[in-house]
Amino acid sequence: MDIKSPAQNTTEQYDVVIIGAGPSGSVAASLLAADGMSVLILEKQYFPRFSIGESLLPQCMEFLKEAGLEQALDKYAKEFGFQHKNGAAFHKKGKNSSFDFTEKFSEGRGTTYQVKRGLFDKLLADETEKKGVSIRYGHQVNSVANLEPEVCLDVRDDNEQPYQVKAKFLLDASGFGRVLPRLLDLELPSDFPIRHSYFSHFKDGINCPEFDRDKILITVNPNHSDVWYWLIPFSDGSASVGVVGLPERFDETLPAIDTLQDFIAQDENLQRLLKNATPLQDARVIKGYSADVTKLWGKNFALLGNAGEFLDPVFSSGVTIAMKSASLAAPLVKKQIQGSKVDWESEYAEPLKFGVDTFRCFVEAWYNESFQNVVYHDHHDDSVRRMISSILAGYAWDEKNPYVAKSVRRLNVLAEICQAG
Ligand SMILES: Cc1cc2nc3c(=O)[nH]c(=O)nc-3n(C[C@H](O)[C@H](O)[C@H](O)COP(=O)(O)OP(=O)(O)OC[C@H]3O[C@@H](n4cnc5c(N)ncnc54)[C@H](O)[C@@H]3O)c2cc1C
Repeated sequence: MDIKSPAQNTTEQYDVVIIGAGPSGSVAASLLAADGMSVLILEKQYFPRFSIGESLLPQCMEFLKEAGLEQALDKYAKEFGFQHKNGAAFHKKGKNSSFDFTEKFSEGRGTTYQVKRGLFDKLLADETEKKGVSIRYGHQVNSVANLEPEVCLDVRDDNEQPYQVKAKFLLDASGFGRVLPRLLDLELPSDFPIRHSYFSHFKDGINCPEFDRDKILITVNPNHSDVWYWLIPFSDGSASVGVVGLPERFDETLPAIDTLQDFIAQDENLQRLLKNATPLQDARVIKGYSADVTKLWGKNFALLGNAGEFLDPVFSSGVTIAMKSASLAAPLVKKQIQGSKVDWESEYAEPLKFGVDTFRCFVEAWYNESFQNVVYHDHHDDSVRRMISSILAGYAWDEKNPYVAKSVRRLNVLAEICQAG
């Protein structure tokens, strides 16, 4: 059967088709549209829709600026209840610590926002449409008919009608949907163990004067140092609260909200902060979020954001990595479409992985506790504190930072010093 586009009764053709209108899809599309490319985004859901990943890093703002999306975020932040963010605070067994991103080593913006992702993703998508990108909501990509000589996708529209669309290049920004990794058999198990996460939004009722709403609060469970919580305040008196741990830490027979509240009650400080909190919605659970792929690109396609590798939420690096992938890929797509040869491994996969590996080193050190010792150490040299702040602010590709250039070695030495101290 020859399947035509319902709109035109002829198979449509774009320069670039993008699967998914999350942050990586919108940033890539905005950059490509600014370069004169015709871009179609196919998004299976209707926006606003819930998504997790609410604490941004300042490095994101640089990518949003590049894509012409930063101003809109600054403009609507207050109206949408997005919270100004200038750092990260940590708590473990009564001990507090915090890093101020404005005192970071790397150049670039030092503040960002904690966002409700439904509104944030819709804002970016709406701004992207204003730049000439077509977005079709309720349209799901089901399979890839061809990748060469040109891309041809099988899509199901919002009336369950199938149609095809063609493009010179395909970007998979489908996040946890992982469309191409599944269809092209690119899935690779992550090196990280499976972890579960329980989370919800609360009317937080926090009235402790010392609580800093401008920072995400990461708390280590007093009984299990591999279990940690996030508390991400928004500016409208609500907050996102979640707990992360190995599967055996959780009783799956309990309702998810009870599990979350039981864990909150285990930490004295969190319990005190959230004593007046009431849930605004049922808790959600994500099991086994870490993912990897055998390759990030192939003939006429590349994987962006979570459709490629996802490490762990502990340092809120997901949206930053997603936007970095879009920022790296967009100019290469244009270059290829204009007829130049692109070496996707050395120009895309390797530079992207460079920063991902910086985060990887810190995530591994968090779970083996060496970075926890660094975080809660009292007497850091100022320059070391600024370098660590930079990485926590997302500047994981800044090779001038010794903790980026030689992350494993530097972090091991620092952890030993902190341990000895
Ligand atoms: C528990 C947890 C907490 C997290 N916390 C943070 C945090 O605080 N900060 C942070 O930066 N990151 C965080 N993350 C990571 C963050 O959620 C992701 O890294 C980020 O959303 C990835 O963006 P993306 O653009 O790649 O994909 P997504 O934001 O997932 O967007 C993908 C889009 O593709 C669409 N799609 C999927 N399949 C199809 C299909 N077949 N056809 C059409 N459309 C499709 C989806 O509907 C979706 O809208 C967290 C992750 C987890 C698991």
